[in-house]
Amino acid sequence: MTDFVDGWILGHTLGEGAYGEVKLVINKATEEAVAMKMVDLSKHPDARRTVRKETTIHRMLSNPNIIQYFGQRSEKNMEYIFLEYASGGELFDKIEPDIGMPKWEAQKYFRQLISAVEYLHSRGVAHRDLKPENLLLDENDNLKVSDFGLATVYRLQGKERSLDTRCGTLPYVAPEVLERPYQAEPADIWSSGIILVALLAGELPWDQASAECPEYEAWKNGKYMSVTPWKKLDKFSLSLIKHILVHEPSRRFKISEIKKHAWFRDNFSEDGNPIERDVVDGLRAKRFHKDEEEVLMRTCLSQPELPGKETNGLSTFTIEERPGFSFSQPAHMEDLLLSTQLQTLAYTQTQTQTSLSTFQKMVRRMTRFFVKTECDTTVKRLISCLKKESYTYRINECGIITISSMDRRKMPLVFKINIHEMDGKILVDFRLSKGCGLEFKRRFLKIKEKVDDIIARDSSNHRQVS
Ligand code: ATP
Ligand code: MG
Repeated sequence: MTDFVDGWILGHTLGEGAYGEVKLVINKATEEAVAMKMVDLSKHPDARRTVRKETTIHRMLSNPNIIQYFGQRSEKNMEYIFLEYASGGELFDKIEPDIGMPKWEAQKYFRQLISAVEYLHSRGVAHRDLKPENLLLDENDNLKVSDFGLATVYRLQGKERSLDTRCGTLPYVAPEVLERPYQAEPADIWSSGIILVALLAGELPWDQASAECPEYEAWKNGKYMSVTPWKKLDKFSLSLIKHILVHEPSRRFKISEIKKHAWFRDNFSEDGNPIERDVVDGLRAKRFHKDEEEVLMRTCLSQPELPGKETNGLSTFTIEERPGFSFSQPAHMEDLLLSTQLQTLAYTQTQTQTSLSTFQKMVRRMTRFFVKTECDTTVKRLISCLKKESYTYRINECGIITISSMDRRKMPLVFKINIHEMDGKILVDFRLSKGCGLEFKRRFLKIKEKVDDIIARDSSNHRQVS
């Protein structure tokens, strides 16, 4: 296998973003793993400014529940962002469609989410795209907020501004964001509330929080008790959610109030009942130097608001590399950040087929399974299943099947099936490219059920734990 940069090898694709792939990069000697987000500027010339804003904000953050930013490299047509690797995958993988997860587990993730959001707001940063797909998990199953592509600074030196950009992912967006202008904090809190519903019920309550949406109107008018997802939730959970999903932002629970609510405060045991708890996970935020903080925030604030990832924009400012990185950076990060060999990496470079088994094992993904059949037979079975389900699909030269469809909210849903050999076995790996993570998981489970007879019953099929 060729080195990606001296001493580092390029691993598999971890996920797909709006502007390119996220890949695993591993240090050969130490097995340190880093996630590398790649943005191809020749394909997305408008992305440069978005990436600058994303990195400017992300680099000033340091919190146990936020993906650590390590650094960035700019090449002629490529931007590389190096991030802490979250080996546990995405939170939506833990959500059983239409069921959710046990209350104690939802509580754990929700507490960690609120802790991250509280930290962000303490730094004057609004995330603006909180959703399970942007919440990753580390090897210890701790939640890590990621993707600062839509984040912005709304408070500097105590002076707060309201926001004017309509952005986010519709089912998670607060009603006032659709109206504009809006306050940053309540909007992030709203999205966290929708995430809590997704965790507890495995579904989203509405397409968007606006008058056109009958489900939202019913909720607003208190006529929701017999409808899903609300009827799946117990009174205790609902009592917290009712304070978060409040139409009027000024009446919505603040983070301090969420933390005082008994649902949040008192531990659930694994049987779902509240038990005594000693401490709520505190913030272990590492403070930056005040000067550095202000320079970064000014850079950010001097930027006009970005209308969204899709929009064209001009790159107007530059940022210097930060001297030294956070405490949690891998020891050999410099090789990655300083090497000029990055230029030799073609964006479309296909992954060298070698046994990356030790590293592959670090990835815990539930949207994959091993099969007993050979590659050809597997593809045939999958295709016949896709045909039966009337999916539109295409197969590229590398054997990756791309499926395009619409979800039940009439939103585009695109996902890929990648079939590869791993340790002499055939692995069928499903990955979301575009659309709702929950809907993707529903489709995955349905296809999996249809090809059940070829699935190899192996413990590694359930969850690959390192
Ligand atoms: P989108 O706009 O579609 O959300 P994006 O361009 O902002 O995408 P990200 O959300 O940052 O991209 O990353 C895309 C996917 O890559 C994530 O959903 C996740 O599956 C994977 N990924 C990103 N960062 C990491 C990481 N640090 N560790 C592991 N996987 C990651
Ligand atoms: Mg994302």
